[in-house]
Amino acid sequence: MNSPDLYAVFGQPINHSKSPQIHRLFAEQTAQNLNYHTKEVGKDFFESAANNFFTKGGEGLNCTVPLKECAYQFATKLTQRATFAKAVNTLSLQQDGSILGDNTDGCGLVMDLINHQISLTGKRILILGAGGASRGIIAPIIKHKPKQLVIVNRSIEKALKLATEFQSLGMSIHGCGYDDLAPQQFDLILNATSASLSNQLPPLPKNLLAKNGCCYDLAYGNQPTIFVNWGIENKAIKSLDGLGMLIEQAAESFYIWRGIRPNTQRVMAIFNR
Ligand code: NDP
Repeated sequence: MNSPDLYAVFGQPINHSKSPQIHRLFAEQTAQNLNYHTKEVGKDFFESAANNFFTKGGEGLNCTVPLKECAYQFATKLTQRATFAKAVNTLSLQQDGSILGDNTDGCGLVMDLINHQISLTGKRILILGAGGASRGIIAPIIKHKPKQLVIVNRSIEKALKLATEFQSLGMSIHGCGYDDLAPQQFDLILNATSASLSNQLPPLPKNLLAKNGCCYDLAYGNQPTIFVNWGIENKAIKSLDGLGMLIEQAAESFYIWRGIRPNTQRVMAIFNR
């Protein structure tokens, strides 16, 4: 048997990452001979570590917190969705030696929403947070033609900047601070802040979630996140965490690298979801 093709995820911290397990399951399922490992890499060492990885035969690299902007700078070519996101989570060595940067986060989120029959079309959608994850999900959401899209952030200027930047996609997006939210109501609230990771909730007004609305936390953990619980308390008909998004964005990376789409539902079932 030939030696396995090399893939990895770089980030800091990285020990908690579920990506090696997910890609191992995808590879088993699709009979691909590959090895996927983790490496703790900080921003200062990203360029040399990535160069070293590709020089030594690496085929594809995932980049997670805090490296998505470094990976965006490192790529020698970019897909359209990475260009919009200004962040890259998937690097692929091309036949001509160039490195293609892509962003599969938004596509992963939308796929997971579709898997759970949560519609975006015609809905009033609120995104909490204006960091890297928000950047990655806005364009794929707009493709599904929501009725309204609002971005709220603690530092208001970042929300306003994102709203302005994405206007070019043909939809009016509103940026604001948390104090400006009431008395609006939303059919879908996406938590793209990192607040859940420190068990904190953004300051959300009462009655923010419309009747029959849904909540989705991009963060995930072994227990329901604080925002998933907020959704349940506020009578969301579905309140989900981001494990499904993680698996779907990994599947999209796997497809980019191997040209085969793995069955994500089988992997979800292994994670008991
Ligand atoms: P960033 O550091 O780029 O952005 C963090 C955002 O959270 C900022 O908008 C920040 O606001 C806001 N924030 C942080 N703490 C609070 C708080 N206590 N109250 C209100 N707002 C807060 O992070 P990312 O965008 O990269 O990641 C965001 C989340 O998405 C993380 O939980 C990450 O794990 C998750 N994620 C999940 C993925 C998946 O596959 N499931 C993929 C990618 C990300 P401010 O600007 O004011 O500081």
